[in-house]
Order: sequence, then C-alpha cells, then structure tokens
Amino acid sequence: MKCVCGSGKPYDECCGPLLARARPAATPEALMRSRYAAYVLKDFDYIVETTDPDTRDLFDHDANRAWMEESTFVDLLVLASSEKGSRGTVEFVARFSRGGADQTHHERSQFRKHKGRWYFSEGETV
Ligand SMILES: [Zn+2]
Repeated sequence: MKCVCGSGKPYDECCGPLLARARPAATPEALMRSRYAAYVLKDFDYIVETTDPDTRDLFDHDANRAWMEESTFVDLLVLASSEKGSRGTVEFVARFSRGGADQTHHERSQFRKHKGRWYFSEGETV
C-alpha cells in the first residue's frame, strides 16, 4: 500500500513506522507528513503526542478532533520544507472535503526539536 501522505513510498517505509510509534520522525517534513497520515487514518492521539509540549495546551483538541472526524482527506502537497538546528518549517496544501464541499488548507507550520524528537509548534494559514 502506498503511503496516504502522497510521498509515493510504501506506507511501511514512510509514515507507517511513525504512526506505529516504532521510531520518531527524522525531519520536520516527515513529521508533518505523518501528522497528515494520522488525520487520514483518524489517529488523533498521534496529533496530540506530536504537538510541542510547550504549546500543546494552547490548542483546542476537542474542536480539532471534531474537525478531523467530519473531514475526508483528499491529498497533501508539500510546497517547501527546511530545517536549521532545532527549528523547522514546512509549507503545505492539504485538500479535504466537508459535507460534500471541497476545501483546501494552505499552511506554514513551525516545528521544534525537543529531546531528540520533532514536534509541531504552531501553524500559520497562508
Ligand atoms: Zn507517508
């Protein structure tokens, strides 16, 4: 099975081991892709676990989970990704549908490496 994140790689060599908690994401882009895969596969715990502990409480996880459950994810396009030291940025477009209406979400996400693991810190809609 090809990975649901759209990388073109097999799921077992892409987001699979990350969602199985077998290994952490090696790069901000890998983490971002695995978080998208978690939305597709409705593994909301993974979203919470991979959110920066410093900003985790700032998110409305209940609203986010409801959004996930009401959405059908179509595809992901990573436009740019970079990392420098313990910081990373990934810009992406995710397409999904809600109530039969197609929508796109264009975001620039910030990531932070903390104790050897990448975490999602915050996102800015572009
Ligand atoms: Zn993947």
